[in-house]
Amino acid sequence: MIQNEIKKRVVVLGGGIGGLAAAYFLARLGRYDVTLIEKASCVGGLCGSFQHQGFTLDYGAHKLYSVIPGILDEVQSLMGDRLLRVAKKNRIFLRGQLLDYPLRLGNFAQAMGLGLFAKLGADYGVEILRGLFPRSAARSYAEYITRRFGSTAYRLVFEPLADKVWGRPDELHPEMARTRVPASGGWEIILKLLGLKKETQETNAEFFYYPRDGFGALGESLKKGIEQSGGKVLLNTSPTSILHEVDRAAHVMVNDGGAEHILPCDLLISSIPVPEICRLVIGETDPELTKVVHALEYRHLVMVYVFIRQPKVLEDQWIFFPERKFIFSRIFEQKQMNPDLGPIDQTVLCCDFTCDADSWQWQASEADLARHCIEGLVNAGFIQSTDVMDTLVERRESFYPRYDLQYTDKMCSISQALQKTTNLLLTGRVGMYNYNNVDHCLDMGRFISQKLMQGLSAGEVWRELDQRVGQYKIVD
Ligand SMILES: Cc1cc2nc3c(=O)[nH]c(=O)nc-3n(C[C@H](O)[C@H](O)[C@H](O)COP(=O)(O)OP(=O)(O)OC[C@H]3O[C@@H](n4cnc5c(N)ncnc54)[C@H](O)[C@@H]3O)c2cc1C
Repeated sequence: MIQNEIKKRVVVLGGGIGGLAAAYFLARLGRYDVTLIEKASCVGGLCGSFQHQGFTLDYGAHKLYSVIPGILDEVQSLMGDRLLRVAKKNRIFLRGQLLDYPLRLGNFAQAMGLGLFAKLGADYGVEILRGLFPRSAARSYAEYITRRFGSTAYRLVFEPLADKVWGRPDELHPEMARTRVPASGGWEIILKLLGLKKETQETNAEFFYYPRDGFGALGESLKKGIEQSGGKVLLNTSPTSILHEVDRAAHVMVNDGGAEHILPCDLLISSIPVPEICRLVIGETDPELTKVVHALEYRHLVMVYVFIRQPKVLEDQWIFFPERKFIFSRIFEQKQMNPDLGPIDQTVLCCDFTCDADSWQWQASEADLARHCIEGLVNAGFIQSTDVMDTLVERRESFYPRYDLQYTDKMCSISQALQKTTNLLLTGRVGMYNYNNVDHCLDMGRFISQKLMQGLSAGEVWRELDQRVGQYKIVD
């Protein structure tokens, strides 16, 4: 163990899984004096849990799964028997029916009706034939998906769901589809539909892990791990400014709600939203860059919890709703993760969806949002309105990065400007403006610590991490 005097001082901004993972893996090395700054009163960020009316509730459905070697082992060694292994069950609600997900030929054809199903197949065949000839790379999400699944499948399933989740799919970058859509299309999807080829663990998990006490227990365990390794986690604390010495961030000024403190730092790792770290590190002196930072697009997240006087409502953990007539994109039953997370004779459904700041959904009152969700659940046949006991609305601003067609250019300019601070690294989902999952956040933290241990500079780690993150895929 290296003595305190010669340990490098690391300040990590943000205590979601992105920041916690970086702090945890670095603190564990024993070579760094790590301090994590979190503005909220608890860690976990969007992966936190909270208590309400006898339930432990997560912020939307969160499962833990990974195909990145070693990541699940790390979580298992951190959480031991507090981790449940859950058989995954989720479906899509389309045209009044629950369809298996991934799609299977039998019930998909039944739900579509013969005419529509034939059209879907014909469009799909056309795209396969077109794919036999060379063509330029897809320029948008819409083009990417249409080429893989045909225009009918795009219009029926992908376009409405993408419109609900990210907005305006014609103006979405194809990268959004590459990271988010598991099947590769072409003959592969036909074979899978016919049951002649199985999904792999790279595209679809058959099980996942879930912390027995709610997803928030993962963040709490990471926090404990940081503290056990001698690191500090400061809650209710925000950075107010960053003082530079030449090209390095030398001190972070923080406020804990009462007083201002100064934290010296040799390395600064940020997992807070990109616009916030830009304001702290670069300021707003360059009008062109400020414009670019403000042009990064985000979607807001709304979660409406509907408390129901029934022991259980679903057979699935969560169900997707691509159709526009439903306000929500997905419903999630918390007790499907662990029945002990709520009273025995009651359950709760979390209806989640994203929207723009100027949308009616974001502007709507809590009562209106609750009414729309209850109506949707009743119309879909999942609940009766008389069973509803209560509702709760949670909103999170700017959580979903929205990759528009110019997002890579924007992030390139921003990265160049931020990298002038030579001891700065970004990590996490909101921190890197990258559409990723919990296992990716854990991997980023581990990767940063490994590369620093190998003696790489922050700039070198930044470049290697960028490449690694570019390969991440979301496993459904
Ligand atoms: C509805 C939904 C479902 C999801 N389901 C899954 C799933 O099933 N499996 C999965 O692996 N992933 C899932 N994800 C993704 C997962 O939630 C993210 O990958 C992860 O939470 C990102 O963590 P983060 O640390 O980057 O961001 P956050 O969780 O947003 O953490 C950022 C932290 O920084 C803090 N902060 C912000 N500004 C400041 C500041 N100025 N000073 C100090 N602190 C600050 C915030 O309070 C927060 O704690 C889901 C996401 C959503 C929205």
